[in-house]
Amino acid sequence: MTPSQTKYLIIGAGIHGLSTAYHLATELKANGQGGGEDILIVDKGSIASGASGIACGVIRNNYFQPAMRELMAECVHVWETDPEAYHYHAVGYMQISPESMHADVAQIAAEQKAIGYESELIEGEEACRSYMRGIFSDWRAEGITSILHEKRGGYANNTASLYGLANKAEAAGVRIMSGTEVTGLESGSNSGAITAVETNKGRIEVEQVIVAAGPWVPRIWDMLELPDRIDVKDTKGEVHKDVPMWVYWCLQEGTLGVEPGFGMADDGNMPPVIHVDTDVPLCSDVDGRVLVEDMWGIYYKPDFNFGGIQGGAAPYLVKTPAEKIAIDPYGPDSPEFIVDDLFAETWCSALAFCQERYQGQIGKWRKEPSGGIGAFTADSFPVFDRFRENCYVIADSNHGYKMIAVGKLVAEEVMGGQSALLEPFRFSRFAEGKLHPISNSPFPWS
Ligand SMILES: Cc1cc2nc3c(=O)[nH]c(=O)nc-3n(C[C@H](O)[C@H](O)[C@H](O)COP(=O)(O)OP(=O)(O)OC[C@H]3O[C@@H](n4cnc5c(N)ncnc54)[C@H](O)[C@@H]3O)c2cc1C
Repeated sequence: MTPSQTKYLIIGAGIHGLSTAYHLATELKANGQGGGEDILIVDKGSIASGASGIACGVIRNNYFQPAMRELMAECVHVWETDPEAYHYHAVGYMQISPESMHADVAQIAAEQKAIGYESELIEGEEACRSYMRGIFSDWRAEGITSILHEKRGGYANNTASLYGLANKAEAAGVRIMSGTEVTGLESGSNSGAITAVETNKGRIEVEQVIVAAGPWVPRIWDMLELPDRIDVKDTKGEVHKDVPMWVYWCLQEGTLGVEPGFGMADDGNMPPVIHVDTDVPLCSDVDGRVLVEDMWGIYYKPDFNFGGIQGGAAPYLVKTPAEKIAIDPYGPDSPEFIVDDLFAETWCSALAFCQERYQGQIGKWRKEPSGGIGAFTADSFPVFDRFRENCYVIADSNHGYKMIAVGKLVAEEVMGGQSALLEPFRFSRFAEGKLHPISNSPFPWS
């Protein structure tokens, strides 16, 4: 039965909703205020039915923006607290880059050192080749002049980790209601505070709302009557008028259906997650024609959960305005936002560019729908902020399966604290010109 009221209502049972619920329950208990009994998560689908459930699962620190890096260090720390429950594989992560990214990567390495995040920087074409051949003797990617090898991070199994978090939350007393869609928000007559949410299963009175709706966040943003176009002051002080608050990018991912063991390192162990960016033209592994002339990038890992070599390439911007996009059916169920044969050829050719063992393997590409869209903010970085007095919005701009610590920090803020790690991600940064620095990576999330 749908409760008529709850103290804390969380919209969304993805990584952020579940992490917030579990950590809030822990905070409440530590403060002698009960536990999770006052927390209700509602999800229009079920646990893991959004972006978190289809994420590749890569967990890394490699970000050009200091604020992102510091936050990711905290996230990696949370993954490390319970690898078993979170199905976390600490294999490490490698950013392998061309000369145009060398300076950025060297800066990241220096700044990781400064915050005590363990990584190794390899510089120079010959040193990079030899380092990679120490891991994979068939390494052959060209045009690589720097490698950042993060010794922490790696990946986690998407759905399994969410059930791990959900089990922790439920054990702490949190209730999770599937098939319950928030359709409207009510506020009091004298303030903007949300007093109740309307759902397809009835009305629920609330004291605090936490929005963790992933790609559907713009829909709730709209219910909160927040602006769909904003003015953005850039770091030079120039104001850009009427910038769309939300745009969607489509993430392109898939799986090569070889045995995962096919992708092991020479020592027989799981290799780090590999991310390669390069400006060397990419030729087809099928017929040799040039597929990509500009900068391109891929990431991949052997993954027993996906049952093969799983990964992706740079996403593409969806040109349809955010309010007109069909988010549902989502992910692999979408008729529109799934990868095509050209993606398969490009990604498999990129694998073969990197390692000889993948040459001629395209026939093993898993011909099943994959990929999905993500909602990005006006500057492609997260917004973590409170609106309408009692409504906390977690909008991770699609950076976020890895960001398991955000829920912990949000829980602390909901309890009245102030997180220095979340501070750089307030909505006010757009008006104040406090934007994050932009890197030379071809990906919108680096
Ligand atoms: C293909 C793909 C691969 C990715 N790979 C990675 C990766 O490797 N590493 C990484 O860090 N990030 C990755 N991401 C990004 C990451 O998945 C998202 O940033 C993150 O999962 C968002 O988490 P969330 O909890 O905000 O949203 P979600 O996991 O999408 O959860 C939101 C939930 O809210 C529910 N909901 C929405 N609207 C309502 C409503 N009105 N009422 C009730 N419930 C509602 C939905 O049903 C959904 O279950 C990837 C994204 C995609 C699409």
